[in-house]
Amino acid sequence: MISSLTKTPEQLLDELGITEPSQIKIEAIAYHCQAIILYEPLSGCEANIVGRGDRAIITVDSSALRTRQRFSAGHELGHWMKDRGQVAFGCGREQMDSHWIANNPETRANQFASDLLLPSKLFVPLAKGRPITVETVRDLGRVFEMSLTATAIKLVRFGSFPSMVLYFEDGERKWFIPSGQDLPRLLLWPVKQLDPSTVSARLSSGGIEREGMDDVRTDKWFDVQNANRYYVRESCFATGPGSVVTLLWWEDEKQIIDLQEEEEQNASRRSDWRRED
Ligand SMILES: [Zn+2]
Repeated sequence: MISSLTKTPEQLLDELGITEPSQIKIEAIAYHCQAIILYEPLSGCEANIVGRGDRAIITVDSSALRTRQRFSAGHELGHWMKDRGQVAFGCGREQMDSHWIANNPETRANQFASDLLLPSKLFVPLAKGRPITVETVRDLGRVFEMSLTATAIKLVRFGSFPSMVLYFEDGERKWFIPSGQDLPRLLLWPVKQLDPSTVSARLSSGGIEREGMDDVRTDKWFDVQNANRYYVRESCFATGPGSVVTLLWWEDEKQIIDLQEEEEQNASRRSDWRRED
């Protein structure tokens, strides 16, 4: 018999017969993995896990929002399934908001939570054809009872259109994730600092509250040729003082197509040069 501790989120969901977002009960899934979730006031972290033998207790901050609690519990369950045998984990907002791209236990725990609580099989059909904006993120976040950041990342990765999600702290980029292979990655490298004229910068500095949306010229975001000729739909929400998650959506895909052509030309020029060599 395969131990439940070696299973992937997809296997767990299949095994429990979960076919709708409303059936994703984190407490029941954790129990299935021999972990119990408790809700208690915590200071200094969002959640922690203590494991012994093949059983674990996950404690989640009882004062956090429900969406945050669910994600934190999924994150700790990820540690239980992936990093078992290591010392106990206590995880704060920093771990959950900042670690999405590095290869470390925090990123793996976030990925586990995302695959479990926003499973692609259920998410993709609901995200199909939807605009890559904060409004869609809010809507899908409600359906899956998930935090906006986790939902935004899933929407960019599994949505229908070329887009990018970025995270800024005090105007400085901490990470970004592009949608699939359709984006010319090397050419579309976003700015390190927020341009002060963007709605994300205004949100970051407290000039506006909670969220915003705008159509902006892409030269505010990317240092590429002719960037001022194209527009991108920018929408953003705040996750804390000075922390902002931004979505960029190429509703008009002209820039992507032009850049792809440029990339192809560069590649063929390089191979010509090799032939002459
Ligand atoms: Zn953690």
